[in-house]
Amino acid sequence: MSWSFETDPETEADLAWIRQFIEGKAIPLEALNLPVAEFDRVAAPLIKEVRARGLWAAHLGPEHGGSGRGQLHLALMNEIVGRSRVGPLLFGTAPPDSGNLELLALHATPAQRERYFQPLLDGAVRSAVAMTEPEAGADPTLLTTRLDRCDGGWVLNGHKWFATNASLADFMLVMAVSDPAAAPRDRATVVIVDRDQPGVDVRRDIPSMEDPEPRPAQIENHCEVVFTNVRLPDGAVLGEPGRGFAMMQERLGPARVHHCMRWIGQAQRALDMLCERATYRYSHGSTLADKQTVQNWIADSAAEIAAARLLTLQAAWRIDQAGSRGARAEIALIKFYGATVLHDVIDRAIQAHGSLGYSSDLPLEAMYRRARAARIYDGPDEVHRQSAARLILRGYAPPPGGVPTEHLPSRRRAAESLFADWLEGRT
Ligand SMILES: Cc1cc2nc3c(=O)[nH]c(=O)nc-3n(C[C@H](O)[C@H](O)[C@H](O)COP(=O)(O)OP(=O)(O)OC[C@H]3O[C@@H](n4cnc5c(N)ncnc54)[C@H](O)[C@@H]3O)c2cc1C
Repeated sequence: MSWSFETDPETEADLAWIRQFIEGKAIPLEALNLPVAEFDRVAAPLIKEVRARGLWAAHLGPEHGGSGRGQLHLALMNEIVGRSRVGPLLFGTAPPDSGNLELLALHATPAQRERYFQPLLDGAVRSAVAMTEPEAGADPTLLTTRLDRCDGGWVLNGHKWFATNASLADFMLVMAVSDPAAAPRDRATVVIVDRDQPGVDVRRDIPSMEDPEPRPAQIENHCEVVFTNVRLPDGAVLGEPGRGFAMMQERLGPARVHHCMRWIGQAQRALDMLCERATYRYSHGSTLADKQTVQNWIADSAAEIAAARLLTLQAAWRIDQAGSRGARAEIALIKFYGATVLHDVIDRAIQAHGSLGYSSDLPLEAMYRRARAARIYDGPDEVHRQSAARLILRGYAPPPGGVPTEHLPSRRRAAESLFADWLEGRT
């Protein structure tokens, strides 16, 4: 297998620019913990700089102002952007807007493009995606939200759960069952629903582990939403009816690579803090850097981050070569491995900082709470382990006669017959 992370001078210059922007502006802005309206005001000139540099929403195709330089380059960008919690907001890559932009770019009609895609790309509106339900999460074939035909269009009824940013969103992409008689993966359709439409009830922001008080802009709201007889025109359907599952999978493939690279950026930031602490904290006759346990934490964390990074860059490279479908196994591997590395490295960094690590004076405790969610969203880790294992197992079949291929007595018999002439002295 041949793959390489070499980038062109233009990308190298961009990565250097992003690095100084994240360290010099995003990380300081993050420390202010501003509420949404104030954050938007302070962030506006920074976003302008990102746009002027041509790096806003770089994950989109070049026809929409994106970089068009492929997943490997996007991965390298996201690693740096992800060091700061506000980085994705400043670069137009924050979920769920980033994934929704991708779906709209691929499937929107000219009218949908004008009404939803362009304002979202311009940062003039916000969006949400509502797929999970109280009784259907990891297994989306259990969705019960219904999209039924009616005179002049469709009617939507159902109950959604954990739709990120729905209470701030101007519109949502909602996945609903439009053909219950079809095969499980051909039942659902994606519709665009305006939040202020009659029958749309964003019931509440669900309190979660992530919530500090007061809630700064970079903390997402996760909402419970009920749709009651929401009437929608045909023009609300995104893509083809019945293609909802396939479209959502398309949306999630590259997005998982971007998530993982941002996790690696966060994990590296936690490791940087852990190493810094080790150099100055003195206890029981030496600095932490001299304690073997802390050395183990540092070495293990560095190895795990490097492994997760290589795995993720390989997945990005594979998407560039074979598309999201061809990279399914790699994407499944990075989802659970990346989320585990993120969690474990932050955990060690908190431990090395003791009570200071547990306090909100350092970003580690907030990073840890968010890291816990990474093992659940985008599909729980267990489901990705299962998918990866199933894909890997496709390359294997039961051995003839049920005897293991590596069974030594059988191998010896086969070898004896293969080399009989030599063994019996005939040659
Ligand atoms: C921070 C955050 C943001 C989110 N944002 C959104 C959003 O914007 N829009 C949206 O629609 N949803 C969103 N979600 C929901 C997310 O997609 C679901 O939480 C996820 O799909 C899991 O579904 P569930 O919570 O119903 O868990 P369940 O389906 O009840 O699963 C619970 C647990 O069961 C186990 N499990 C399930 N299936 C298997 C299996 N096959 N093998 C082994 N174990 C299994 C896993 O341990 C899993 O964690 C978000 C969730 C979080 C935490």
